[in-house]
Amino acid sequence: MSIYSIQDEDFIAEMAVVCPKCQAMAAVFGGQAAATAAENEAQLRFFCVSCNFALRYKNTPKFKAHSKAGRGKDGVVEANLVCDPFFGFDLWYCTDTAYGLLWAYNRDHLRAIQYEIEQLRLAQHQNTQGGTALPLWAQNPKNSDYLIQVLEKLVLK
Ligand SMILES: [Zn+2]
Repeated sequence: MSIYSIQDEDFIAEMAVVCPKCQAMAAVFGGQAAATAAENEAQLRFFCVSCNFALRYKNTPKFKAHSKAGRGKDGVVEANLVCDPFFGFDLWYCTDTAYGLLWAYNRDHLRAIQYEIEQLRLAQHQNTQGGTALPLWAQNPKNSDYLIQVLEKLVLK
């Protein structure tokens, strides 16, 4: 069985974030991994259903972030931070575990991480480790029961 390898960028179309005004769950949507800076300007939005706070990406100030391996794009904060990579708001699905910070852009991302941890646990007997974006502590099968419990709780947040 092949292991599905998470690309965090696959989950940026709609990201659950903490509203900076009312702290409720809000969304950043319109993100595409392959989008140009101009496309991001045109498509990205933030909206909070609780307080109606809305932002258009094209109207927000940007800074150019340093990026590894040329993966970053103009105005896009490097991925793998505990915030959305566009507006920089805190992610809704984020929790401290005994081993490190566990976070996801949205519920599908959480499920994918959970699936990957389960697959890695199964694979330990088959010696078929595939590439994964998970930190080493999350790949360790000894931690998988605990981490799956944490994820189950987080998905209900
Ligand atoms: Zn709000």
